[in-house]
Amino acid sequence: MSEEAAFLSAIRERPGEDTVRLVYADWLDERGDPRGAFLRLHTVLLATAPDHVQRGAAESELSRLRLQCSREWLGAVEFEREHLHAEPPVRPGCRCFIGLFPSEVKKGIPPPELHAEPQDTECGAWKRLCELVERAADDGRAEFAPLGELQPGDREHIVTLPPTIAKLKRVRRLHLYGSHLVRIPPEIGEMDSLEEFDPYTSYRLHWFPYEITRCKNLRTSRVSTRALYGNHKYSPPFPRLTPGAFAGRVEPRELPLACAAPTVRACSVCAEPFEDRRAHRVWITLRVATDDLPLLVNACSEECVRALPKPQSGYTNRPHRGGTSRQQQQG
Ligand SMILES: [Zn+2]
Ligand SMILES: [Zn+2]
Repeated sequence: MSEEAAFLSAIRERPGEDTVRLVYADWLDERGDPRGAFLRLHTVLLATAPDHVQRGAAESELSRLRLQCSREWLGAVEFEREHLHAEPPVRPGCRCFIGLFPSEVKKGIPPPELHAEPQDTECGAWKRLCELVERAADDGRAEFAPLGELQPGDREHIVTLPPTIAKLKRVRRLHLYGSHLVRIPPEIGEMDSLEEFDPYTSYRLHWFPYEITRCKNLRTSRVSTRALYGNHKYSPPFPRLTPGAFAGRVEPRELPLACAAPTVRACSVCAEPFEDRRAHRVWITLRVATDDLPLLVNACSEECVRALPKPQSGYTNRPHRGGTSRQQQQG
């Protein structure tokens, strides 16, 4: 087995371990191979929650580095996007709630992790989506159904929406039916005219940003509730929000970016900018439009956490950090 094949097989055998990935990255660097930089940033992103303030910038940088890597090689190191590296590509799956039905929750199965799949911002599908957002912002349309306007096979590549959705000030109805989205950016809260939100059958969309509560005109929603954390039907547990940790790894406070990205964000609650230290992140379930939605709050302070509204009745009765079972969350 060649030295390189040995590295790849070690990564496959121990996907949760960073050491072998970083040793391999050094080995690539020493040979002037640009894949070393990709592997290093990719390893950092595995430890970075999807709601991290620098995540978008890091994903853009990773996407640029990815351009220099072969699909076969990516298939061996990018486990979270393996469906895209399959030949032919397959629809992405979701195993978050497997083994977590009420009868099984008590057995101490660990809670799911937030989907951490990075968005490829260099692929054609993403570029077309960004163009559609710009066009919709320009023509001031009231109805926006971007996924239906993409080309066949594009949908699998889209896991989030661009932050430029903040420009869609006149969109009243947002249709995302049957998407493979895993997260919605907080900028959705700036879509002032939004009245109707329809991500129905987006089975990998388990949570929403608290900022969606800023859409004061939002009246109608159609969400596949069985796919939501803490939903009434199956009560699947919420991912644990541990300060300074993600997916069993140490979460970096600042990411090693080629272009510096701001570490300041707007508080989900008071909207004031603050230096994000990942300390006041909580879950809360609230009625939004016509659904009870699990919302992720990135607050600036405990004061702002205390200022949150009372959770929808029937759910955990205070803001919480998730965990193994509903009982613990209610603790
Ligand atoms: Zn999932
Ligand atoms: Zn605040």
